[in-house]
Amino acid sequence: MFWSKAFIPTLKETPKEAESVSHQLLLRAGFTRMLMAGAYTYLPLGLRVLEKIQGIIRQEMNACGASELLLPALHPLELWQKTGRDKDLGEVMFKFKDRRGRTIALGPTHEEVITDLVKNNCSSYRQLPLVLYQIQTKFRDEIRPRFGLIRACEFIMKDAYSFDQDEAGLDKNYQLMFEAYKRIFSRCGLKTLITEADSGVMGGKVSHEFMAQAPLGEDVVMLCPKCKLAAAFKEGNSLCPKCRIDMDKVNTIEVGHIFKLGIKYSQAIEANFSDAKGQLKPVIMGCYGIGVSRLVSAIIEQNNDADGIVWPGEVAPFDVMVLPLDITNAAIKQEALGLYDQINAAGFTALLDDRDERAGVKFKDADLIGLPLSIVIGKKSIAEKNIEARVRKDRSTVHIPKEELVSFINGQVLKGR
Ligand SMILES: [Zn+2]
Repeated sequence: MFWSKAFIPTLKETPKEAESVSHQLLLRAGFTRMLMAGAYTYLPLGLRVLEKIQGIIRQEMNACGASELLLPALHPLELWQKTGRDKDLGEVMFKFKDRRGRTIALGPTHEEVITDLVKNNCSSYRQLPLVLYQIQTKFRDEIRPRFGLIRACEFIMKDAYSFDQDEAGLDKNYQLMFEAYKRIFSRCGLKTLITEADSGVMGGKVSHEFMAQAPLGEDVVMLCPKCKLAAAFKEGNSLCPKCRIDMDKVNTIEVGHIFKLGIKYSQAIEANFSDAKGQLKPVIMGCYGIGVSRLVSAIIEQNNDADGIVWPGEVAPFDVMVLPLDITNAAIKQEALGLYDQINAAGFTALLDDRDERAGVKFKDADLIGLPLSIVIGKKSIAEKNIEARVRKDRSTVHIPKEELVSFINGQVLKGR
């Protein structure tokens, strides 16, 4: 991709409306724009990161045996009335009447819809276990949308649902998801604390939250400084149960939440199956969510410095920035185009900064958007027949022989992953 065609509107000044580091950087580096409070446009760079994250999630979900589908965002309110959650969610739910006078909700989550689907299409124990997931836009009428993608009214989630005939099946699927979540967040370059949590409006008995540490995070987690045990925050309850010492309060962002739902939804919606003896029983469910768009912000909160974003290798919008110092110089331009082709041909993705801008502007923007590696091309590197590579993470500069470019990128990009 050439910068001149990519649409990357970077900003010199920090926008006043942005309260968090990630929100500031997403705006400044040209990844997102706000349409109104809680509703965001993903610009081309932002969309690429989102797609990288979704790719990791799909790989890990498919590896667990989960199957992807896509449920509608428009829900008949009657379905929500069956579980009583239209009342539980209250004003958080966007509702409106269609032209036939029917009340429609914009899906804030999908337990009711998927349970109804399984009820109508799965009636025998032979069809279980079943794990289904989707990556979809959700809608919640937040009182106070804040921090950019962290608390938005329109956001993207991955939600998975397991359907089993017994508790042992649920335990097995829950454990598979638990392990998959650890891999997903680690591949995204995110450090998370895992806490046993309150199931709240979702119901069910057991649930775990995956919390990313970030200064602006609104969820407080207790962390033992000694054994690193994490626990949900409860007033008066600040002693580590193992070490008997005071735990620290840390601010976090919730990025994932998994629940053993049991039969709460299947009972209310009458999603039953006949077991091996022909007896009708409600299916036993689990649900597993990841805030996909929120992850973009959480990753930036943990991966940035004074000059901009420092993308972890696997979620960077491109692997390499090709940075010709003077694009009006024919020899430099030709060299840059050659290296750009070589990098793409080797299976990496490159962004070529083909703008007729001062080198200082290009370096600043390269640091701001934060690709793992920049290849700098100037008269000097051409004369010396080597390549100047700048590693974003540790700000080191390396000079490498031209013929070693691909193996160098390979090492750097894979190291970042
Ligand atoms: Zn401890």
